[in-house]
Amino acid sequence: MPVVYFDNNATTPLDRRVLEAMMPYLTERYANPNSIYSIAKEVRQGVEEARQKTASALGCDESEIIFTAGGSESNNTVIKGVWAQNKGKGHIITSSIEHPAVLEVCQWLEKQGASVTYLPVDEYGMVHPEELAKALRDDTVLVSVMFANNESGTINPVEEMGGMCREKGVPFHTDAVQAVGKLPINLEKTPMDFLSLSAHKLNGPKGVGALYARKGQRFVPLIQGGHQERNRRSGTENTAGIIGLGEALRIAIEEQKQEKAELTRLRDMLHDGVMESIKDVTLFGHPKKRLPGTCTLAFKYLEGESILLSLDMEEICASTGSACSSGSLEPSHVYLAMGYSHEEAQGAVRFSLGRFNTQKDVEYVLEKLPPIIKRLRELSPLTPKGYIS
Ligand SMILES: *Cc1c(COP(=O)(O)O)cnc(C)c1O
Repeated sequence: MPVVYFDNNATTPLDRRVLEAMMPYLTERYANPNSIYSIAKEVRQGVEEARQKTASALGCDESEIIFTAGGSESNNTVIKGVWAQNKGKGHIITSSIEHPAVLEVCQWLEKQGASVTYLPVDEYGMVHPEELAKALRDDTVLVSVMFANNESGTINPVEEMGGMCREKGVPFHTDAVQAVGKLPINLEKTPMDFLSLSAHKLNGPKGVGALYARKGQRFVPLIQGGHQERNRRSGTENTAGIIGLGEALRIAIEEQKQEKAELTRLRDMLHDGVMESIKDVTLFGHPKKRLPGTCTLAFKYLEGESILLSLDMEEICASTGSACSSGSLEPSHVYLAMGYSHEEAQGAVRFSLGRFNTQKDVEYVLEKLPPIIKRLRELSPLTPKGYIS
């Protein structure tokens, strides 16, 4: 049995079809797309086709797409850029479960004098529109709430929240890195002003992403210089990466329906299988309003890290939560915000499935996991005396 890769929320393998689309741009199509000779114009055309694919995947206009170096940069651009556009004044609303590329930017802005409200979540990790209604103020300059959480998989009612912001004339941003490609999105019909996405979470290359900025929404660019991307993001375009992003999005949208159904089936099979064979397991995240491939399970009396090490010996890749926080002993801020104790949160293991996973992968994990949990519980100092697993 080869490696079972169940860490698709951290990153995904590159789709071969995407690599093929990129290859010419890594080899003979090396010209700078901003140059004037013919071979550069061909590269420019490739970049603009990728922009069309990106715009059509989101249901927006091409002029509203800015290519960036990924989800983190898109998030930084919006939050710092809108703040600067407002001359460093005002109130920002975000949530307590955001990715660090939103959360840490907001915490940093607080040190620069920003007033920030962090919306709470329920036990499923969901942000409620009523909380947003209570937090909106006359001086609110930006609201940023993620579409779907990378650790719990829970999907937020972002359309409703976007609508509330629209009514108040407050720009609404969503970190949709985990949602784009997996869930239907149509920005033409959705009241959102900014959206971040990243190619490597949808079987595209790493280090490239995009920011959608609705027409008329202004922000100070994060990276200044050569005026690329209509002055909104300088730097010579990552041409191969951009081509890869466009193709990854085209494939994700084309195959979304089937893939969503299959991932949901495999995810539920994994969940049900674990629940049947292991006791004292808790699902972290919403039972239904959840990303198709995400299944985060907490095993009582255990630490997720030790489960991961045992899984690794069986060539199974999973995660305790976000890749950014592993290695630190603190449990994930997401699980704590959901109301779990440190001890409960420490027992969490995230299995995130993706395009290339099969039923065999799920069966293999269902075979290997129960004896691992049994053995670890026998060794764990937290397990009560006489506990029968
Ligand atoms: C992975 C991820 C990011 C960061 O994207 P990069 O392209 O790796 O910078 C941001 N937000 C969420 C929700 C993510 O899952």
